[in-house]
Amino acid sequence: MAGRDPVSFLREEYQRLVSSDLDWKLRVLEGPSAPRCVVDGKNVIMLCSNNYLSLSNHPKVKQAAIDAVRTHGAGSGSVRPIAGNMDLHSELERRLARFKDAEASLVYQTGFAANAGLIPQLVDQGDLIVSDELNHGSIIDGVRLSRADRGVYRHCDMGDLKSVLEKAEEHEPRYRRILVITDGVFSMDGDMAPMDKVAALAHDHGAMVYVDDAHGEGVLGEGGRGIVAHHHLSRDAVHVEMGTFSKAFGVVGGHVSGSRDLVNFAYNKSRTWLLSGSHPPAVVAACTAAIDVLETEPQHVRNLWTNTDYFRKGVRSLGFDTGSSVTPIIPVMVGDSGAAKRFSSRLYELGVFALPIVFPMVSKDKARIRTIMNAALAREDLDASLSAFEKVGKELGLI
Ligand SMILES: *Cc1c(COP(=O)(O)O)cnc(C)c1O
Repeated sequence: MAGRDPVSFLREEYQRLVSSDLDWKLRVLEGPSAPRCVVDGKNVIMLCSNNYLSLSNHPKVKQAAIDAVRTHGAGSGSVRPIAGNMDLHSELERRLARFKDAEASLVYQTGFAANAGLIPQLVDQGDLIVSDELNHGSIIDGVRLSRADRGVYRHCDMGDLKSVLEKAEEHEPRYRRILVITDGVFSMDGDMAPMDKVAALAHDHGAMVYVDDAHGEGVLGEGGRGIVAHHHLSRDAVHVEMGTFSKAFGVVGGHVSGSRDLVNFAYNKSRTWLLSGSHPPAVVAACTAAIDVLETEPQHVRNLWTNTDYFRKGVRSLGFDTGSSVTPIIPVMVGDSGAAKRFSSRLYELGVFALPIVFPMVSKDKARIRTIMNAALAREDLDASLSAFEKVGKELGLI
């Protein structure tokens, strides 16, 4: 063993990724994330940010961040349970609970931290987690941190969910608790979980229901209140509504909403929450301001949907397949990975920034350009984007 370089694998693995074109090539955004922005020195139309409502650029949201630095400083000084729980954090949670029409809400550092911290506390040995096969990686990691048994059902397949839950009834010894968990909106296809049916099936089997609504909040339901509001489900139909401030809210941070019991349990048990520094004042104040904007300026969510309908109709009428998309996430199907990568780089040359999603993120023949609509895109931005899709689609013989 002596003389062997213990860290040579770092470069070897990186080079393996590079040679198979699986490494991430980071692009640099110079200036704000906005519909017209500068990426690697080039002016482009942004079609792949999660900043659905462009709230990261809203004057009220930016001002709230600036003001909070003045009144509360740049950092919080601690974890929440010790000395890092400012009035601003409590205020955000009150405002979020009101927005979500929930008894209580809890803010985590990120959505990833919420899933990784809470899921393994809800279920342990002797319990069962039932998960959609296409759930987000942060759910998968949360599930891996738990000692519960796992059941996976086919994507949005309610017949399969039902049979997994029926089989669970026969398990010996009887499961103590069952947790059914799903994304609300799936980020690769832009399709939606049938949340009403998931909740009803879980209810029939006495299971908890947990939805990760990262791509649904600010997008779906009245005023952007999310997938639970979209289905008009009652407060107790979905026990954990998890989300993020890093997408439509335009800032950063994770959160869960539900009963007061859930929140009391969650903050006392989630290690990611207990052991990691709390948000700086500017972040929390900006999140509160984003909720304010959602409550008082309904036009942003409306504009997002107007743009979504226009663009989806546009790419379809060019002859592209947009798969099962019913949300502002609109995949444009291309086929194989090489074609998707060529498509994306030609779009960039034409001034449109949209990334390819390729194997292993999706199956080998389902590579696509994933576009994400934004409320602040102007009609001419959408038309220019559609022209670019038409041009490249013809060049590559796809339409
Ligand atoms: C983005 C995302 C997360 C992670 O949220 P962050 O706050 O960015 O950590 C979790 N779940 C889903 C479904 C997501 O899309």
